[in-house]
Amino acid sequence: MDDLCRLTIGELAGLLTRREVKSIDILNSYIKRIKETDPKVSAYLYNDFEEAVRNAEAADKIIASGGGFPPLTGIPLSIKDIFLIKGKKTTCASKILDNFISPYDSTVVKKLKENHYVFLGKTNLDEFAMGSSTENSAYKITKNPYDLNRVPGGSSGGSAASVAADLCAGSFGTDTGGSVRQPAALCGVVGLKPTYGLISRYGIIAFSSSLDQAGVLSKDVTDAAIMLGAVAGFDEKDQTTRRFEVKDYAGIVKKADKSLMKGLRVGIPVEFFSEGLDPEIGSKISEIKALLKELGADIVGISLPDTKYSVAAYYIIATSEASSNLERYDGIRYGYRYKEESGNEMQSLDGLYRKSRETGFGNEVKRRIILGTFALSAGYYDAYYKKASSVRKLIVKNYKDAFGKVDVIIGPTSPTPAFLIGEKTADPLSMYLSDIYTISVNLAYLPGLSMPVGTVKNPSKQNGVLPVGLQIISPWAAEDRLLSVAKIIEDEVKFRENAGFRKLDI
Ligand code: GLN
Repeated sequence: MDDLCRLTIGELAGLLTRREVKSIDILNSYIKRIKETDPKVSAYLYNDFEEAVRNAEAADKIIASGGGFPPLTGIPLSIKDIFLIKGKKTTCASKILDNFISPYDSTVVKKLKENHYVFLGKTNLDEFAMGSSTENSAYKITKNPYDLNRVPGGSSGGSAASVAADLCAGSFGTDTGGSVRQPAALCGVVGLKPTYGLISRYGIIAFSSSLDQAGVLSKDVTDAAIMLGAVAGFDEKDQTTRRFEVKDYAGIVKKADKSLMKGLRVGIPVEFFSEGLDPEIGSKISEIKALLKELGADIVGISLPDTKYSVAAYYIIATSEASSNLERYDGIRYGYRYKEESGNEMQSLDGLYRKSRETGFGNEVKRRIILGTFALSAGYYDAYYKKASSVRKLIVKNYKDAFGKVDVIIGPTSPTPAFLIGEKTADPLSMYLSDIYTISVNLAYLPGLSMPVGTVKNPSKQNGVLPVGLQIISPWAAEDRLLSVAKIIEDEVKFRENAGFRKLDI
Protein backbone atom coordinates (compact mmCIF):
# COMPACT_ATOMS: atom_id res chain seq x y z
CA MET A 1 0.00 0.00 0.00
CA ASP A 2 2.98 2.28 -0.57
CA ASP A 3 1.08 4.15 -3.21
CA LEU A 4 -1.64 5.49 -0.95
CA CYS A 5 0.38 8.68 -0.57
CA ARG A 6 -0.04 9.32 -4.30
CA LEU A 7 -3.84 9.53 -4.13
CA THR A 8 -6.02 12.60 -3.82
CA ILE A 9 -8.15 13.41 -0.79
CA GLY A 10 -11.25 12.54 -2.81
CA GLU A 11 -9.81 9.12 -3.68
CA LEU A 12 -8.65 8.44 -0.12
CA ALA A 13 -12.00 9.50 1.33
CA GLY A 14 -13.68 7.03 -1.05
CA LEU A 15 -11.43 4.19 0.18
CA LEU A 16 -12.10 5.11 3.81
CA THR A 17 -15.85 5.33 3.25
CA ARG A 18 -15.91 1.90 1.65
CA ARG A 19 -13.73 0.67 4.54
CA GLU A 20 -11.12 -0.58 2.05
CA VAL A 21 -8.21 1.01 3.92
CA LYS A 22 -7.62 2.46 7.34
CA SER A 23 -6.35 5.91 8.10
CA ILE A 24 -3.33 4.35 9.77
CA ASP A 25 -2.42 2.61 6.47
CA ILE A 26 -2.61 5.93 4.68
CA LEU A 27 -0.51 7.56 7.36
CA ASN A 28 2.15 4.84 7.20
CA SER A 29 2.46 5.38 3.47
CA TYR A 30 3.05 9.10 4.09
CA ILE A 31 5.54 8.51 6.89
CA LYS A 32 7.57 6.24 4.63
CA ARG A 33 7.44 8.76 1.81
CA ILE A 34 8.43 11.66 4.08
CA LYS A 35 11.38 9.73 5.55
CA GLU A 36 12.64 8.81 2.09
CA THR A 37 11.96 12.00 0.23
CA ASP A 38 11.74 15.02 2.50
CA PRO A 39 15.48 15.06 3.23
CA LYS A 40 15.82 16.03 -0.47
CA VAL A 41 12.90 18.44 -0.67
CA SER A 42 12.95 20.03 2.84
CA ALA A 43 9.27 20.87 2.71
CA TYR A 44 8.73 20.38 6.44
CA LEU A 45 10.10 22.40 9.33
CA TYR A 46 9.06 19.55 11.60
CA ASN A 47 6.95 16.44 11.61
CA ASP A 48 4.98 15.06 14.50
CA PHE A 49 4.40 11.41 13.74
CA GLU A 50 3.33 10.56 17.29
CA GLU A 51 0.51 13.06 17.05
CA ALA A 52 -0.26 11.78 13.55
CA VAL A 53 -0.60 8.19 14.78
CA ARG A 54 -2.91 9.33 17.59
CA ASN A 55 -5.02 11.28 15.07
CA ALA A 56 -5.19 8.35 12.63
CA GLU A 57 -6.21 5.90 15.36
CA ALA A 58 -8.91 8.28 16.55
CA ALA A 59 -10.16 8.69 12.98
CA ASP A 60 -10.22 4.93 12.45
CA LYS A 61 -12.39 4.53 15.56
CA ILE A 62 -14.86 7.08 14.25
CA ILE A 63 -14.96 5.41 10.85
CA ALA A 64 -15.37 1.96 12.42
CA SER A 65 -18.29 3.15 14.52
CA GLY A 66 -20.36 2.93 11.38
CA GLY A 67 -21.98 6.34 10.99
CA GLY A 68 -21.17 9.12 8.57
CA PHE A 69 -18.08 11.27 9.01
CA PRO A 70 -16.77 14.53 7.61
CA PRO A 71 -14.70 14.38 4.41
CA LEU A 72 -11.28 15.09 5.92
CA THR A 73 -11.60 12.33 8.52
CA GLY A 74 -8.39 10.31 8.63
CA ILE A 75 -6.69 12.39 5.90
CA PRO A 76 -3.03 13.38 6.55
CA LEU A 77 -2.44 17.10 5.93
CA SER A 78 0.44 19.52 6.35
CA ILE A 79 0.07 23.04 7.73
CA LYS A 80 2.15 26.13 6.94
CA ASP A 81 4.05 27.13 10.07
CA ILE A 82 2.05 30.33 10.40
CA PHE A 83 -1.10 28.67 11.84
CA LEU A 84 -1.22 28.22 15.61
CA ILE A 85 -1.81 24.70 16.89
CA LYS A 86 -2.23 24.48 20.65
CA GLY A 87 0.83 23.09 22.39
CA LYS A 88 2.91 22.96 19.18
CA LYS A 89 5.73 25.15 17.95
CA THR A 90 4.86 27.97 15.54
CA THR A 91 7.93 29.78 14.23
CA CYS A 92 6.72 31.54 11.08
CA ALA A 93 10.22 30.51 9.88
CA SER A 94 11.67 33.29 12.04
CA LYS A 95 14.36 33.08 14.69
CA ILE A 96 12.35 35.56 16.71
CA LEU A 97 9.72 32.85 17.32
CA ASP A 98 12.22 30.03 17.68
CA ASN A 99 10.87 28.77 20.99
CA PHE A 100 7.27 29.89 20.68
CA ILE A 101 4.64 27.32 21.66
CA SER A 102 1.13 28.17 20.49
CA PRO A 103 -1.20 28.81 23.42
CA TYR A 104 -4.38 28.09 21.43
CA ASP A 105 -5.70 26.67 18.15
CA SER A 106 -6.28 28.84 15.10
CA THR A 107 -9.88 28.55 13.91
CA VAL A 108 -8.74 26.69 10.77
CA VAL A 109 -7.00 24.08 12.91
CA LYS A 110 -9.93 23.90 15.33
CA LYS A 111 -12.16 23.07 12.37
CA LEU A 112 -9.68 20.54 11.02
CA LYS A 113 -9.67 18.84 14.42
CA GLU A 114 -13.47 18.75 14.35
CA ASN A 115 -13.06 17.08 10.94
CA HIS A 116 -10.77 14.45 12.52
CA TYR A 117 -7.85 15.23 10.22
CA VAL A 118 -4.37 13.79 10.70
CA PHE A 119 -1.64 16.37 11.43
CA LEU A 120 1.60 15.45 9.63
CA GLY A 121 3.69 18.50 10.44
CA LYS A 122 4.45 22.16 9.82
CA THR A 123 5.77 23.31 6.46
CA ASN A 124 8.48 25.82 5.63
CA LEU A 125 7.81 29.37 4.45
CA ASP A 126 9.53 32.68 3.90
CA GLU A 127 10.01 34.38 7.27
CA PHE A 128 6.68 35.95 8.28
CA ALA A 129 5.38 35.00 4.81
CA MET A 130 7.51 37.71 3.20
CA GLY A 131 8.92 36.36 -0.01
CA SER A 132 8.32 34.36 -3.16
CA SER A 133 10.82 31.51 -2.89
CA THR A 134 11.14 30.25 0.76
CA GLU A 135 14.76 31.45 0.58
CA ASN A 136 13.87 33.93 3.34
CA SER A 137 13.22 31.15 5.86
CA ALA A 138 15.56 31.38 8.85
CA TYR A 139 15.80 27.57 8.93
CA LYS A 140 16.09 25.97 5.49
CA ILE A 141 15.43 26.39 1.78
CA THR A 142 12.72 24.17 0.36
CA LYS A 143 13.49 22.67 -3.07
CA ASN A 144 11.18 22.38 -6.04
CA PRO A 145 10.25 18.69 -6.53
CA TYR A 146 10.57 19.16 -10.32
CA ASP A 147 14.18 20.34 -10.01
CA LEU A 148 15.97 20.33 -6.69
CA ASN A 149 18.14 23.25 -7.82
CA ARG A 150 15.08 25.46 -8.14
CA VAL A 151 12.79 27.22 -5.68
CA PRO A 152 9.26 26.01 -4.97
CA GLY A 153 7.97 29.59 -4.89
CA GLY A 154 6.71 31.24 -1.75
CA SER A 155 5.85 32.11 0.74
CA SER A 156 3.87 28.84 1.12
CA GLY A 157 6.70 26.99 -0.67
CA GLY A 158 6.91 24.17 1.88
CA SER A 159 3.17 23.56 1.55
CA ALA A 160 3.26 23.50 -2.27
CA ALA A 161 6.31 21.22 -2.37
CA SER A 162 4.76 18.88 0.20
CA VAL A 163 1.68 18.46 -1.98
CA ALA A 164 3.64 18.11 -5.25
CA ALA A 165 6.01 15.50 -3.80
CA ASP A 166 3.19 13.47 -2.20
CA LEU A 167 4.44 14.28 1.29
CA CYS A 168 0.85 15.01 2.38
CA ALA A 169 -2.63 14.76 0.90
CA GLY A 170 -3.18 18.53 1.00
CA SER A 171 -1.88 21.60 2.79
CA PHE A 172 -3.13 24.84 4.28
CA GLY A 173 -1.27 28.05 3.45
CA THR A 174 -1.80 31.79 3.44
CA ASP A 175 -1.85 34.31 0.61
CA THR A 176 -1.24 38.03 1.09
CA GLY A 177 -0.02 38.84 -2.40
CA GLY A 178 0.23 35.46 -4.08
CA SER A 179 1.73 33.12 -1.50
CA VAL A 180 -0.66 30.25 -2.19
CA ARG A 181 -1.10 30.69 -5.94
CA GLN A 182 2.50 31.40 -7.00
CA PRO A 183 4.08 28.38 -5.24
CA ALA A 184 1.16 26.24 -6.47
CA ALA A 185 2.01 27.34 -10.02
CA LEU A 186 5.73 26.68 -9.62
CA CYS A 187 5.14 23.23 -8.10
CA GLY A 188 2.34 22.03 -10.39
CA VAL A 189 -0.46 21.84 -7.82
CA VAL A 190 -3.78 23.59 -7.27
CA GLY A 191 -3.77 26.67 -5.02
CA LEU A 192 -6.90 28.55 -4.00
CA LYS A 193 -7.00 31.93 -2.30
CA PRO A 194 -10.63 32.53 -1.39
CA THR A 195 -12.44 35.85 -1.07
CA TYR A 196 -11.10 38.05 1.74
CA GLY A 197 -13.19 37.17 4.78
CA LEU A 198 -14.31 33.68 3.76
CA ILE A 199 -11.87 31.83 6.04
CA SER A 200 -11.16 32.98 9.58
CA ARG A 201 -7.66 34.30 10.26
CA TYR A 202 -7.95 33.90 14.01
CA GLY A 203 -4.72 32.26 15.18
CA ILE A 204 -2.83 32.90 11.95
CA ILE A 205 0.24 35.10 12.47
CA ALA A 206 -0.58 38.45 10.88
CA PHE A 207 1.49 39.95 8.07
CA SER A 208 -0.74 42.49 6.31
CA SER A 209 -4.20 42.37 7.82
CA SER A 210 -6.15 43.98 4.99
CA LEU A 211 -4.70 41.46 2.52
CA ASP A 212 -3.99 38.20 4.40
CA GLN A 213 -6.24 35.25 3.64
CA ALA A 214 -5.88 31.54 4.36
CA GLY A 215 -5.89 29.25 1.36
CA VAL A 216 -5.56 25.64 0.30
CA LEU A 217 -2.99 23.73 -1.75
CA SER A 218 -4.11 20.44 -3.21
CA LYS A 219 -3.47 17.74 -5.77
CA ASP A 220 -6.61 18.54 -7.72
CA VAL A 221 -9.59 20.87 -7.90
CA THR A 222 -11.98 18.50 -6.13
CA ASP A 223 -9.62 18.40 -3.14
CA ALA A 224 -9.45 22.20 -3.05
CA ALA A 225 -13.26 22.25 -2.88
CA ILE A 226 -13.31 19.66 -0.08
CA MET A 227 -10.68 21.54 1.94
CA LEU A 228 -12.34 24.92 1.46
CA GLY A 229 -15.70 23.54 2.58
CA ALA A 230 -14.13 22.20 5.77
CA VAL A 231 -12.73 25.52 6.98
CA ALA A 232 -14.79 28.35 5.42
CA GLY A 233 -17.29 30.42 7.32
CA PHE A 234 -18.04 33.25 9.69
CA ASP A 235 -16.05 33.34 12.92
CA GLU A 236 -16.91 35.70 15.73
CA LYS A 237 -13.22 35.69 16.66
CA ASP A 238 -12.24 37.31 13.33
CA GLN A 239 -14.22 40.44 12.62
CA THR A 240 -13.12 40.45 8.99
CA THR A 241 -14.98 37.21 8.30
CA ARG A 242 -18.30 37.72 6.59
CA ARG A 243 -21.56 35.87 6.91
CA PHE A 244 -21.12 34.42 3.43
CA GLU A 245 -23.15 31.37 2.61
CA VAL A 246 -20.72 28.44 2.78
CA LYS A 247 -21.71 26.42 -0.25
CA ASP A 248 -21.33 22.72 -0.88
CA TYR A 249 -18.23 23.36 -2.99
CA ALA A 250 -17.35 19.68 -3.38
CA GLY A 251 -20.89 18.81 -4.48
CA ILE A 252 -20.94 21.71 -6.94
CA VAL A 253 -17.57 20.72 -8.43
CA LYS A 254 -18.74 17.16 -8.84
CA LYS A 255 -21.62 18.37 -11.00
CA ALA A 256 -19.47 20.76 -13.07
CA ASP A 257 -20.08 19.85 -16.67
CA LYS A 258 -18.68 21.05 -19.98
CA SER A 259 -22.06 22.52 -20.89
CA LEU A 260 -21.35 25.22 -18.30
CA MET A 261 -18.82 26.67 -20.71
CA LYS A 262 -21.43 27.47 -23.34
CA GLY A 263 -21.67 31.23 -23.43
CA LEU A 264 -19.48 31.71 -20.36
CA ARG A 265 -17.75 35.08 -20.77
CA VAL A 266 -14.03 34.66 -20.12
CA GLY A 267 -12.05 37.88 -19.75
CA ILE A 268 -8.43 38.14 -20.90
CA PRO A 269 -6.81 41.26 -19.43
CA VAL A 270 -4.28 42.82 -21.78
CA GLU A 271 -2.16 43.79 -18.74
CA PHE A 272 -1.56 40.11 -17.86
CA PHE A 273 0.28 39.49 -21.12
CA SER A 274 2.72 42.34 -20.79
CA GLU A 275 6.47 42.36 -21.24
CA GLY A 276 8.20 40.24 -18.63
CA LEU A 277 5.92 37.26 -19.31
CA ASP A 278 7.90 34.22 -20.39
CA PRO A 279 6.72 33.59 -23.99
CA GLU A 280 6.38 29.85 -23.42
CA ILE A 281 4.05 30.48 -20.48
CA GLY A 282 2.15 32.94 -22.65
CA SER A 283 1.62 30.32 -25.32
CA LYS A 284 0.43 27.71 -22.76
CA ILE A 285 -2.18 30.18 -21.52
CA SER A 286 -3.20 30.85 -25.13
CA GLU A 287 -3.76 27.12 -25.59
CA ILE A 288 -6.21 27.22 -22.68
CA LYS A 289 -7.90 30.23 -24.21
CA ALA A 290 -8.35 28.22 -27.43
CA LEU A 291 -9.63 25.23 -25.46
CA LEU A 292 -12.25 27.34 -23.69
CA LYS A 293 -13.34 28.81 -26.99
CA GLU A 294 -13.72 25.32 -28.40
CA LEU A 295 -15.90 24.43 -25.42
CA GLY A 296 -18.20 27.31 -26.30
CA ALA A 297 -16.94 30.13 -24.08
CA ASP A 298 -16.94 33.74 -25.28
CA ILE A 299 -13.40 35.06 -25.05
CA VAL A 300 -13.50 38.79 -24.28
CA GLY A 301 -10.47 41.08 -24.32
CA ILE A 302 -10.57 43.37 -21.29
CA SER A 303 -8.39 45.92 -19.57
CA LEU A 304 -7.58 46.38 -15.88
CA PRO A 305 -5.66 49.62 -16.46
CA ASP A 306 -4.67 50.39 -12.88
CA THR A 307 -3.29 46.94 -12.07
CA LYS A 308 0.01 48.19 -13.45
CA TYR A 309 0.36 50.03 -10.13
CA SER A 310 -0.51 47.00 -8.01
CA VAL A 311 3.03 45.93 -7.06
CA ALA A 312 3.88 49.50 -6.05
CA ALA A 313 0.70 49.94 -4.01
CA TYR A 314 1.09 46.51 -2.44
CA TYR A 315 4.60 47.20 -1.19
CA ILE A 316 3.36 50.34 0.56
CA ILE A 317 0.22 48.81 2.07
CA ALA A 318 1.72 45.42 3.00
CA THR A 319 4.89 46.85 4.51
CA SER A 320 2.97 49.53 6.43
CA GLU A 321 0.64 46.98 7.96
CA ALA A 322 3.55 44.60 8.61
CA SER A 323 5.51 47.31 10.44
CA SER A 324 2.57 47.65 12.79
CA ASN A 325 1.80 43.92 13.12
CA LEU A 326 5.43 43.06 13.85
CA GLU A 327 5.78 45.65 16.62
CA ARG A 328 4.72 42.98 19.11
CA TYR A 329 7.96 41.01 18.70
CA ASP A 330 9.93 42.92 21.26
CA GLY A 331 11.75 40.21 23.19
CA ILE A 332 9.34 40.64 26.10
CA ARG A 333 6.14 38.84 25.26
CA TYR A 334 6.93 36.33 22.54
CA GLY A 335 9.65 33.96 21.52
CA TYR A 336 13.28 34.96 21.32
CA ARG A 337 14.89 37.35 23.82
CA TYR A 338 18.42 38.65 23.38
CA LYS A 339 20.79 37.96 26.26
CA GLU A 340 24.22 39.45 26.98
CA GLU A 341 27.16 37.29 25.96
CA SER A 342 27.62 36.49 29.64
CA GLY A 343 24.13 34.98 29.61
CA ASN A 344 22.70 37.81 31.71
CA GLU A 345 19.52 39.68 30.83
CA MET A 346 20.02 43.04 29.09
CA GLN A 347 19.95 45.94 31.49
CA SER A 348 18.34 48.59 29.28
CA LEU A 349 14.79 48.11 27.99
CA ASP A 350 15.50 49.96 24.74
CA GLY A 351 18.61 47.88 24.25
CA LEU A 352 16.63 44.70 24.81
CA TYR A 353 14.08 45.68 22.14
CA ARG A 354 16.77 46.73 19.72
CA LYS A 355 19.01 43.71 20.15
CA SER A 356 16.16 41.19 20.17
CA ARG A 357 14.77 42.60 16.93
CA GLU A 358 18.18 43.08 15.34
CA THR A 359 19.24 39.47 15.91
CA GLY A 360 15.76 37.88 15.74
CA PHE A 361 14.56 39.22 12.36
CA GLY A 362 16.08 38.37 8.99
CA ASN A 363 17.05 40.93 6.34
CA GLU A 364 13.87 40.88 4.26
CA VAL A 365 11.70 41.35 7.34
CA LYS A 366 13.87 44.27 8.46
CA ARG A 367 13.72 45.80 4.99
CA ARG A 368 9.94 45.70 5.11
CA ILE A 369 9.65 47.06 8.65
CA ILE A 370 11.85 50.00 7.67
CA LEU A 371 9.92 50.63 4.47
CA GLY A 372 6.55 50.42 6.24
CA THR A 373 7.60 52.58 9.15
CA PHE A 374 8.79 55.22 6.70
CA ALA A 375 5.57 55.07 4.67
CA LEU A 376 3.48 55.62 7.81
CA SER A 377 5.62 58.34 9.34
CA ALA A 378 4.37 61.90 9.84
CA GLY A 379 4.78 63.95 6.70
CA TYR A 380 4.95 60.92 4.41
CA TYR A 381 1.67 59.19 5.27
CA ASP A 382 -0.39 61.11 2.70
CA ALA A 383 2.19 60.74 -0.04
CA TYR A 384 2.55 56.99 0.43
CA TYR A 385 -0.07 55.10 2.45
CA LYS A 386 -2.99 57.31 1.48
CA LYS A 387 -1.96 57.36 -2.16
CA ALA A 388 -1.55 53.58 -2.20
CA SER A 389 -5.02 53.20 -0.64
CA SER A 390 -6.50 55.37 -3.40
CA VAL A 391 -4.78 53.22 -6.03
CA ARG A 392 -6.26 50.18 -4.32
CA LYS A 393 -9.76 51.68 -4.73
CA LEU A 394 -9.10 52.14 -8.44
CA ILE A 395 -8.03 48.51 -8.75
CA VAL A 396 -11.21 47.39 -6.95
CA LYS A 397 -13.18 49.45 -9.47
CA ASN A 398 -11.24 48.04 -12.45
CA TYR A 399 -12.29 44.54 -11.44
CA LYS A 400 -15.86 45.63 -10.71
CA ASP A 401 -16.15 47.13 -14.18
CA ALA A 402 -14.57 44.03 -15.73
CA PHE A 403 -17.00 41.71 -13.97
CA GLY A 404 -19.82 43.73 -15.50
CA LYS A 405 -18.69 42.31 -18.84
CA VAL A 406 -17.28 38.87 -18.01
CA ASP A 407 -17.96 35.96 -15.67
CA VAL A 408 -14.36 34.93 -14.95
CA ILE A 409 -10.92 36.29 -15.79
CA ILE A 410 -7.96 34.12 -16.77
CA GLY A 411 -4.24 34.66 -17.23
CA PRO A 412 -0.89 33.33 -16.10
CA THR A 413 -0.27 32.94 -12.34
CA SER A 414 3.44 33.71 -12.49
CA PRO A 415 5.47 35.44 -15.22
CA THR A 416 8.14 32.70 -15.14
CA PRO A 417 8.38 29.03 -14.21
CA ALA A 418 10.37 28.03 -11.09
CA PHE A 419 13.65 29.94 -10.97
CA LEU A 420 17.02 28.76 -9.69
CA ILE A 421 17.87 28.95 -6.00
CA GLY A 422 19.87 32.16 -5.55
CA GLU A 423 18.78 33.61 -8.91
CA LYS A 424 16.77 36.50 -7.47
CA THR A 425 18.01 36.88 -3.92
CA ALA A 426 20.35 39.75 -4.73
CA ASP A 427 17.62 41.77 -6.42
CA PRO A 428 14.50 42.22 -4.24
CA LEU A 429 12.64 44.02 -7.02
CA SER A 430 12.92 41.10 -9.45
CA MET A 431 11.68 38.83 -6.62
CA TYR A 432 8.74 41.19 -5.98
CA LEU A 433 7.78 40.94 -9.65
CA SER A 434 7.07 37.21 -9.22
CA ASP A 435 3.69 38.28 -7.90
CA ILE A 436 2.86 40.77 -10.62
CA TYR A 437 -0.29 38.84 -11.69
CA THR A 438 -1.46 37.74 -8.24
CA ILE A 439 -1.18 40.86 -6.09
CA SER A 440 -4.08 42.81 -7.61
CA VAL A 441 -6.45 39.97 -6.65
CA ASN A 442 -5.60 40.47 -2.95
CA LEU A 443 -5.86 44.22 -3.30
CA ALA A 444 -9.38 43.74 -4.73
CA TYR A 445 -10.41 41.19 -2.04
CA LEU A 446 -11.27 38.65 -4.76
CA PRO A 447 -10.89 34.87 -4.98
CA GLY A 448 -8.17 33.49 -7.26
CA LEU A 449 -7.10 29.97 -8.11
CA SER A 450 -3.96 28.63 -9.74
CA MET A 451 -4.03 25.27 -11.48
CA PRO A 452 -1.41 23.37 -13.45
CA VAL A 453 -2.15 23.35 -17.18
CA GLY A 454 1.03 21.87 -18.60
CA THR A 455 4.79 22.22 -18.52
CA VAL A 456 7.63 23.95 -20.30
CA LYS A 457 11.09 22.54 -20.87
CA ASN A 458 13.52 22.97 -18.02
CA PRO A 459 16.47 24.81 -19.59
CA SER A 460 18.95 23.47 -17.04
CA LYS A 461 18.00 19.81 -16.91
CA GLN A 462 17.93 17.34 -19.75
CA ASN A 463 14.41 15.97 -20.27
CA GLY A 464 13.31 18.03 -17.26
CA VAL A 465 10.06 19.95 -17.23
CA LEU A 466 8.67 22.82 -15.15
CA PRO A 467 4.95 23.30 -14.47
CA VAL A 468 2.89 26.22 -15.72
CA GLY A 469 0.02 27.64 -13.67
CA LEU A 470 -3.17 29.18 -15.03
CA GLN A 471 -4.78 31.78 -12.78
CA ILE A 472 -8.57 32.05 -12.72
CA ILE A 473 -10.21 34.99 -10.94
CA SER A 474 -13.93 35.25 -10.19
CA PRO A 475 -16.16 37.90 -8.64
CA TRP A 476 -16.39 38.24 -4.88
CA ALA A 477 -17.66 35.10 -3.10
CA ALA A 478 -18.10 33.18 -6.36
CA GLU A 479 -15.78 30.32 -5.36
CA ASP A 480 -18.40 27.88 -6.69
CA ARG A 481 -18.03 29.32 -10.19
CA LEU A 482 -14.25 29.52 -9.87
CA LEU A 483 -13.92 25.88 -8.84
CA SER A 484 -16.38 24.66 -11.48
CA VAL A 485 -14.50 26.36 -14.31
CA ALA A 486 -11.24 24.98 -12.94
CA LYS A 487 -12.65 21.46 -12.77
CA ILE A 488 -13.79 21.57 -16.39
CA ILE A 489 -10.34 22.72 -17.50
CA GLU A 490 -8.71 20.04 -15.33
CA ASP A 491 -10.84 17.32 -16.95
CA GLU A 492 -9.62 18.44 -20.37
CA VAL A 493 -5.93 19.00 -19.54
CA LYS A 494 -5.52 15.91 -17.31
CA PHE A 495 -2.34 17.17 -15.66
CA ARG A 496 -2.16 14.48 -12.97
CA GLU A 497 -2.89 11.62 -15.35
CA ASN A 498 -0.19 12.69 -17.81
CA ALA A 499 3.15 11.19 -16.71
CA GLY A 500 4.98 13.55 -19.06
CA PHE A 501 3.66 16.50 -17.06
CA ARG A 502 4.59 15.04 -13.68
CA LYS A 503 8.26 14.28 -14.16
CA LEU A 504 9.63 14.89 -10.68
CA ASP A 505 13.32 15.16 -9.77
CA ILE A 506 13.03 12.83 -6.76
N1 GLN B 1 5.60 37.42 -2.33
C1 GLN B 1 4.78 38.44 -1.75
C2 GLN B 1 5.54 39.15 -0.67
O1 GLN B 1 6.68 38.91 -0.56
C3 GLN B 1 3.51 37.83 -1.23
C4 GLN B 1 3.70 37.13 0.05
C5 GLN B 1 2.44 36.53 0.58
O2 GLN B 1 1.44 36.40 -0.13
N2 GLN B 1 2.46 36.20 1.85
O3 GLN B 1 5.02 39.92 0.07
